[in-house]
Amino acid sequence: MPIYEYTCNDCREEFEKLVFASTVVLCPQCSSANIRKKMSTFGMSGGEKPSAGKESGCNSCHKGSCSSCK
Ligand SMILES: [Zn+2]
Repeated sequence: MPIYEYTCNDCREEFEKLVFASTVVLCPQCSSANIRKKMSTFGMSGGEKPSAGKESGCNSCHKGSCSSCK
């Protein structure tokens, strides 16, 4: 289920909403439709930079996962 984060342009309320097809999203605070979608909670793959020493690989020893060096 896709959960999106929104920010209301009118009252600055930030909220999350489960969005199905053709769901009309309104601000829960002021019922405005003048909202802006932020980053999706899902589908983040490829968007983040890998940090050294974590799952995405170590820059120092070139191993797939390294916790002993940085
Ligand atoms: Zn609002």
